[in-house]
Amino acid sequence: MPGKRVVILGGGFGGAAAARTLRKLLPAEHTVTLVDRQRRTYLCGSLPWLIVGERQPEKISRSLGALIQRGVAYAEAEIEGIDLSERRVALGNGALDFDYLVVATGAEYDWNAVPGARQAHSFYSLGTARSLRDALRSFRKGRIVIAVSRLPYKCPPAPYEAAMLLDALLAHRGVRSDVDIHVFTPEPAPLRITGPERSAQFKAYLASRGITVHNNESVKEIDPDGRQVRFQSGESIGFDLMVTVPVHRSAPFVRSAGLVNDSGWVPVDSATLATKHAGVYAVGDVTTVPMANGNPLPKAGVFAGAEGELVARNIAAEVMGGERSRFAGEGYCFVDHGKGKGALIRGSFLAAGQPQVELTAPSVQWRRRKEQFEADWRAWKV
Ligand SMILES: Cc1cc2nc3c(=O)[nH]c(=O)nc-3n(C[C@H](O)[C@H](O)[C@H](O)COP(=O)(O)OP(=O)(O)OC[C@H]3O[C@@H](n4cnc5c(N)ncnc54)[C@H](O)[C@@H]3O)c2cc1C
Repeated sequence: MPGKRVVILGGGFGGAAAARTLRKLLPAEHTVTLVDRQRRTYLCGSLPWLIVGERQPEKISRSLGALIQRGVAYAEAEIEGIDLSERRVALGNGALDFDYLVVATGAEYDWNAVPGARQAHSFYSLGTARSLRDALRSFRKGRIVIAVSRLPYKCPPAPYEAAMLLDALLAHRGVRSDVDIHVFTPEPAPLRITGPERSAQFKAYLASRGITVHNNESVKEIDPDGRQVRFQSGESIGFDLMVTVPVHRSAPFVRSAGLVNDSGWVPVDSATLATKHAGVYAVGDVTTVPMANGNPLPKAGVFAGAEGELVARNIAAEVMGGERSRFAGEGYCFVDHGKGKGALIRGSFLAAGQPQVELTAPSVQWRRRKEQFEADWRAWKV
């Protein structure tokens, strides 16, 4: 039997999990090649800590070089296209033929979708998080507006987490009463996946910390000179510091390969992550997986990782023979509250009828677990 060629596009949560698992399960005659434009990857879950000075970039990064030591072939290259009929991927410096393909290229940001977004702050990438951290060093008075531009976006709790960390930072600095914090979101309620009652409690909890949440608001434009942000609803508000969650989209080569549907994301079988093309899978943020309530599964690293592992096990089972597994949609996400505490959202996101998801009370334990997760990620344990 000739060796199979498995190509994995993207070395983030989903792609790295798929590469490691495949290399463990497949004998050496089969090749596992991972492609990413950057060798060093960053743990986005730690970016909210970076903006308040609790982390340095080195402490929240790891190198894909560690996978080479485990027998994965790593190609540092720009992915430019996928030819599904020829079963070939075009790279900036060559091409790769595949028998199996795992698309794990995540979401990219469209900074032009909202006029003025480029001039605003953000924390959704290492570069933007660093410059927000620098701007916050001298911030002592005024209004901070954090606005989610559109749905879907990565890690639904992240804007609230950032708001709570800013609250804690400014209180520590002794200037909290001079600063207003507002969060705007297109969602009808914050963390609505946890159910109407818990979501209302969370909104009230944020209000008790002086964080006002405005729902059903999508950003229309930002006027950096006039310091005003306008929303699709016609509402507007002035700001001294504007922080956006940018518009997310799939990479151009994913769209031009014909892999996406009207949502702009790759539809997959929710149990197997298979696309409609034989031997072609997609995992993580690049996908759209419907939950029972009609909304898409949240874009989160824990799902991307679990999906990457599952697809790897199933490809190995197809190549070697063996049992197939099904993705259950079980997951969790930490929500740091600042002041040494955190909480956890966890549950069964693909449960029949409704997602069954809870938000725990904040505690020191969950903050420690998030720190442990970060350490495990850096040590390649997750
Ligand atoms: C501020 C913030 C906080 C978050 N907090 C959490 C959290 O607490 N818990 C959680 O579970 N999730 C969290 N997330 C979400 C999590 O980071 C993502 O859901 C996860 O990274 C998705 O994994 P992925 O493998 O699908 O894509 P990614 O991790 O984004 O990886 C995609 C990879 O593809 C590569 N790539 C893309 N296009 C190309 C190309 N053309 N050529 C070459 N390489 C390419 C990229 O370089 C990248 O390395 C957070 C995200 C943010 C922004």
